[in-house]
Amino acid sequence: MTESNTIYPPLQLFIDGEWISRGSRNCEPVLNPATGEVLGELPHATREDLDRALASSVKGFKTWRALLPEKRSEILRQAAALMKARGDQITTVASMESGKPLQQSRIELHMSTEVLEWYAEEGRRAYGRVLPQRQAGTRMLVVKEPVGPVAAFTPWNFPQGNPARKLGAALGAGCSCIIKPAEDTPATALLMARCLQEAGVPDGAVNMVFGVPSEVCPYILRSGVVRKMTFTGSIPVGKELMKIAAERMIRTTMELGGHAPVLVFEDADIESTLDQCVAAKFRNGGQVCVSPTRYYVHESIYEKFVAGFTARVGRLKVGNPLNTDKQMGPMIHARRREAIAALVQDAVDHGATLNTGGSPIDGPGFFYQPTVLSSIPLSARIMNEEPFGPVALINPFSEFEEVMALANRLPYGLAGFAFTDSAKRVKLIGEQLEVGMIGINTFAISVPESPFGGIKESGHGSEEGIEGLEACLITKFISEA
Ligand code: NAD
Repeated sequence: MTESNTIYPPLQLFIDGEWISRGSRNCEPVLNPATGEVLGELPHATREDLDRALASSVKGFKTWRALLPEKRSEILRQAAALMKARGDQITTVASMESGKPLQQSRIELHMSTEVLEWYAEEGRRAYGRVLPQRQAGTRMLVVKEPVGPVAAFTPWNFPQGNPARKLGAALGAGCSCIIKPAEDTPATALLMARCLQEAGVPDGAVNMVFGVPSEVCPYILRSGVVRKMTFTGSIPVGKELMKIAAERMIRTTMELGGHAPVLVFEDADIESTLDQCVAAKFRNGGQVCVSPTRYYVHESIYEKFVAGFTARVGRLKVGNPLNTDKQMGPMIHARRREAIAALVQDAVDHGATLNTGGSPIDGPGFFYQPTVLSSIPLSARIMNEEPFGPVALINPFSEFEEVMALANRLPYGLAGFAFTDSAKRVKLIGEQLEVGMIGINTFAISVPESPFGGIKESGHGSEEGIEGLEACLITKFISEA
């Protein structure tokens, strides 16, 4: 038996507390993107499976919301503890499925357990309020209640973190959750579901299904069961699902794509800025929604910055994500690698300078070279479409107003970053950058207590922070005479 067979769990559906194997269901292979090897066969939920999961979510909602918040909190904490105890398996499986270097999966595990713990606590603070009386003997109450069964759809790129945010928020608020994680990374999510079950989450409070996304997601949304959708993924898919959610006025949290600008001013400490910029760009091979993408560097330090960036990229170690000395793994699948190659070629055709990289890496797996492009015309597709890959784009600027206009020119508005020592600039950037999250002299913009989310076409609503819990609660006003 190979190592992957012993670590990688059987792929199943999780419905009403039952682990369901493939039987006669349609299946799809799940690949290791670093080797091309088939890790397992993922069963697709049938219509009957989905109906059962939906009915179970209604039942699970009743059971789960009836538990006292303190008890729910204890269960979520226990689930986090189980995840930590099984961390070696969960992170190895996450890296096998997603191609993310093991060190990064370990950081993600830490983040995900912290998120569950955060919601465990925050769920105990879903306070309402009592309004001042208008008449003697009356009472006016504002109460918070769980919204109801939540549908959650997650992408592959944070196979632990994305499900943790959605399950944590829904369960913390007292909702049930029917979740369809990405079909590329199902085992990681299934291992997490098992931790939740063993921690004491009752049957039906969490259901996990897989299938053909364009069939499963609309079916769940149109069922009449779901009261809220929380979606993380690409903008086009998000827009389609929002239209379907609108048919039943389902509340939405939409965490969509980005094209993050990074403004590097002449007073930034160039060496430490470069160290941070390169590490952040190639995290998860650039397949991160808040990945720094468009570097705008002041003209006085532009050439030095491009040279320093290119030199550092040349030292990156690319390879199998389970080898702990590797800093970058493969693209998630062949399609993503082809998409990156086409975007880079288009930029070069438009006259961009290719400083390093720019080619697929031969051999098994879906590897693409870490790539640096500079002097890229705005007409190139990559300056307008989310690359979601290991490509840094570096252009010069001269004036503050000019760079702010460049940063804000796209319909994306997820994250933005700036490196400067000027307090005046920091204030202006905070006021003028059209994004949901800003990092000044840092790329660290996500902790459980901070709201994570975008504006413009990058979506609406936030996960984590008090906003994340609020998104799964309804507000009810009760006037008692
Ligand atoms: P995706 O939109 O292809 O998939 C996301 C989810 O939607 C998955 O569960 C997938 O199975 C499902 N899906 C795919 N096609 C569908 C369809 N036609 N109908 C219904 N559901 C469908 O995204 P991806 O490629 O997995 O992830 C990358 C995207 O996610 C990038 O745009 C990235 O920026 C974004 N993302 C955003 C955040 C955030 O918090 N804002 C976080 C991570 C990733």
